[in-house]
Amino acid sequence: MARILLVEDNEMNRDMLSRRLARSGHTVICAVDGQEGLEAAARERPDLILMDMSLPVLDGWEATRRLKADAELRGIPVIALTAHAMAADEQRAREAGCDEFDTKPVELPRLLEKIRVLLASRASDPTQSPGS
Ligand code: MN
Repeated sequence: MARILLVEDNEMNRDMLSRRLARSGHTVICAVDGQEGLEAAARERPDLILMDMSLPVLDGWEATRRLKADAELRGIPVIALTAHAMAADEQRAREAGCDEFDTKPVELPRLLEKIRVLLASRASDPTQSPGS
């Protein structure tokens, strides 16, 4: 199971999703805005980040761009979460460097599968090994 950083400003969404991920066996670290998310990513080095896109202080697009511009942090896979199930949002998230995209409300089995696939592909990619 993984250490997952959840960046989500909505308290109800954050509490619910972090509880459900924990029940699925993951360890969850939470941050409430994009700036805090970046700081938590640097400090905690999570295996994966779930990034709400609509965030105060620093939105999810900008936080992801900064993360992916940082040689130390860019290997951490990012799944964008957005309430808007629109193709333009997915395109925009991928342009910001997000590795995957999912829509809220979260369907947990679908999200867990995306997490599993991303972690598996990272584990088998030698360019993503720690310290590279
Ligand atoms: Mn939000």
